[in-house]
Amino acid sequence: MTAPVPADVLSRLKAVLGQGGWSTDPERLAPKLIEWRDRWSGTSPFLALPGTTQDVAAVVGVCFEAGVPITPQGGNTGLVGGQIPQGEVLLSTERLKRIRDLDAIDDVLVAEAGVTLAEAHAAAGQARRRFPLGLASEGSATVGGFVSTNAGGTQVLRYGMARNLVLGLEAVLPNGEVWNGLKRLRKDNTGYDLKQLFIGAEGTLGVVTAAALKLYPEMASRAVALAGVASPKAALELLARAKAETGGAVEAFELMGRLGVEFALRNVAGTRDPLAEPHPWYVLAEFASGEAGSAEAAMERFLAGGLEAGLIEDAVVAQTEAQAKALWAIRENQSPAQKPEGATWKHDVSVPVSQVAEFLARATAAMQAFAPGARIAAFGHVGDGNIHYDVLRPDGGSDAEHAARRDAGSRIVHDIVHELGGSISAEHGLGAMKTAEALRYKSPVEVEAMRAIRRALDPKRIMNPRVLF
Ligand SMILES: Cc1cc2nc3c(=O)[nH]c(=O)nc-3n(C[C@H](O)[C@H](O)[C@H](O)COP(=O)(O)OP(=O)(O)OC[C@H]3O[C@@H](n4cnc5c(N)ncnc54)[C@H](O)[C@@H]3O)c2cc1C
Repeated sequence: MTAPVPADVLSRLKAVLGQGGWSTDPERLAPKLIEWRDRWSGTSPFLALPGTTQDVAAVVGVCFEAGVPITPQGGNTGLVGGQIPQGEVLLSTERLKRIRDLDAIDDVLVAEAGVTLAEAHAAAGQARRRFPLGLASEGSATVGGFVSTNAGGTQVLRYGMARNLVLGLEAVLPNGEVWNGLKRLRKDNTGYDLKQLFIGAEGTLGVVTAAALKLYPEMASRAVALAGVASPKAALELLARAKAETGGAVEAFELMGRLGVEFALRNVAGTRDPLAEPHPWYVLAEFASGEAGSAEAAMERFLAGGLEAGLIEDAVVAQTEAQAKALWAIRENQSPAQKPEGATWKHDVSVPVSQVAEFLARATAAMQAFAPGARIAAFGHVGDGNIHYDVLRPDGGSDAEHAARRDAGSRIVHDIVHELGGSISAEHGLGAMKTAEALRYKSPVEVEAMRAIRRALDPKRIMNPRVLF
């Protein structure tokens, strides 16, 4: 727990923020002190609610001078506890809501940190453009949050992670200085690319206050289908065919095991079994194209080819937007559907795409030996080699007993990931949760280089001190 914030610092923060720019009301703070999965809760003596970049700079400046730590928070949808303060000043971006610019020639949207991803999508749509970052948390996740966590989501296969979707940034450095890097250039080869340091820094190098986001044209056609397959190996073969046959139209290629679908059927109202018979695994594929009718035709060819090759057991193609949404809902509800099922060891791991089937086979054999009866719900962005590999307590088993073995179980999964050349955090970051574990797998050279960058920018380590190395 962080040391108490001195009273004179609190007075100075109130003075620089003014009326409406802060709160100490426990009811106002409460929803920001607990996260979505109820796994992390925290405390804070002071909620800073800056309304401008200058306000942010003033808050950070006061804290830097006094050596008082800060936790930045956007939509509070992070899954690794990085946004939950443990006694620090909590700096919320909820009032940084302006869309500063939208330019269809530069293909750029300049949005402040507190704009939600859904609001960014809507703004881009006004210029017949898209911002192709898709997260199930998009109604709450913010620009500052998805930039700071380098979020991934469902369209990484085609457009890359947040890192690939940012042209420029504005940020307040830990000493309170404002860096205006809000360029909108496609080419800028003038030394270190500073914005890339802030992307994925999880709030440790400063506060992101605005971002220039890269836009893409709207698509004229889109096709969504769900296919039942026998194994992850069949899914990988289908992925290779989809990439080869569609000329880059694959937007998303997701994998789900049957157990996760059963959880959704049981625990998420309105879910319907997508195919007549159950299948061991399911692939959810989305193709999109700028040419009318082209995505639908590509999907038809792809499914027919997969069926003929014996890779697909059965499939359904969405005929309407509502059907497409219903298929996607099964995938997006994989995680929420687990909640009523009890304690879970969750893993957000990646391996080279070619190693996904090997990873699943090895991890499942190891878990069956270590935790007999544990229920394994694996799903994820198979096109990116990113699997959410969740190990739930045995049916009727004890939550407490399962939770007590989490670290040991996760260590086994992470060791397998490491042996296959993978990462123990594919898209959620390390936060407060996985930093110690990551130290086991990163080389000392890499960790020391990261620490040196952090020391240079934040010599007093006031920014999110519990997060990263
Ligand atoms: C249902 C659900 C589905 C999800 N699906 C995905 C997914 O598919 N892919 C994926 O990558 N993630 C996913 N996530 C995780 C999460 O939504 C993302 O990490 C999201 O980008 C976090 O945004 P946020 O605004 O909620 O950030 P927060 O949770 O508020 O913060 C996350 C981290 O960023 C820091 N931070 C926040 N704002 C700033 C800022 N302005 N400046 C500096 N640091 C800041 C915080 O200190 C913290 O360390 C999901 C979460 C949920 C609940």
